[in-house]
Amino acid sequence: MTEPNEPPSGTAPEGITILGTAQWSAWQERLLPPVEKIGGGIWSVPVPIPHNPLRYTLCYLLTSDDGLLVVDPGWNSPEGWEALQAGLAEAGATAADIHGILATHVHPDHHGLSARLREESGAWIAMHPAERDTLPQRTTRIAGSHRTITAWLRHRGASDEDAEALGGPLDARTPESAGMADPDVLLEDGDLVPLRGRTLRAVWTPGHTPGHLCVQAVDERLLLTGDHVLPRITPNVGLYPGGTGTPLADFFSSLERTGEFDDHDALPAHEYRFRGLGQRTRILAEHHERRCQELVDVVARLGAPTPWEIAQHLSWSRPWSEIGRMRLSALSETESHVDHLVRQGRLTWDERTAGARVRLAGPATAHTGSTA
Ligand SMILES: [Zn+2]
Ligand SMILES: [Zn+2]
Repeated sequence: MTEPNEPPSGTAPEGITILGTAQWSAWQERLLPPVEKIGGGIWSVPVPIPHNPLRYTLCYLLTSDDGLLVVDPGWNSPEGWEALQAGLAEAGATAADIHGILATHVHPDHHGLSARLREESGAWIAMHPAERDTLPQRTTRIAGSHRTITAWLRHRGASDEDAEALGGPLDARTPESAGMADPDVLLEDGDLVPLRGRTLRAVWTPGHTPGHLCVQAVDERLLLTGDHVLPRITPNVGLYPGGTGTPLADFFSSLERTGEFDDHDALPAHEYRFRGLGQRTRILAEHHERRCQELVDVVARLGAPTPWEIAQHLSWSRPWSEIGRMRLSALSETESHVDHLVRQGRLTWDERTAGARVRLAGPATAHTGSTA
């Protein structure tokens, strides 16, 4: 969430129609929006994220003949739990009425409360298998050891001092990652959520995370977009320590796919409801195309920079010297773009070699520049 493409506050983002007008004005006034009944047996419940500029996650409650489905219960904190209970009460329900929980992805602002909610309700938890594989207890990836992350940073050209400072507090058992629930139900692309009396289809949209799911409410023509498409900001699309795959290329294809839901209302996990998925997904894709060009220009200007140097010279929503720990997500975002441009044959970079420098691909290497 560190890229500089946000419209000034008070300005409606271009190309979309804001449907959540109460959410929009609450956003402007920096308040928590109200619990809202959207219609069709669907409620949106803002669950606060402590000390975070995003301020809240929009959790959704959906009725079915089996009971309630809760999509993205939110951040695990006493205030979060209280907000969720208040939302359930507003929908005339308690934890006992919950039949299932669905995590669009396992970031703590979405999946944090799932474990506690399952304990209280006995409901199952569903997610995409690729997302399950990224759970902290199943991987040493982002929650890897101090040493792994420090080594990764040094390898990309960070100074010893920066690498030590950023590598530190990501140690495995951060409070946010402790107790992240494993799923009971796995949903592949196109699968229907197992609920009677409500047709919900899983739409796999990798990019922001490998197993990110959007959820289509087929009869209501709604798309729950999680963090994949938000009305105002760009989700982080990064390659983290130990990360594999092609997150940026995946994100582009996922955007194209979600753009086809232009006649659906978008129910995002942050900010406010809107309509205009066609236009919004085009704007996000153009943003990343521009970002790729900016990166190529930085490489051309610097000659042969390390990924760390590139990250330092890209524009971010705040100056590099002020973004502190967000440098790690900035570097991972830089890396996903470098990786994409190498695969496209526009840049060369030998990721296997420590301190390797990124270069413009010459005519001779234009079609063989991939290191994959
Ligand atoms: Zn997320
Ligand atoms: Zn989020």
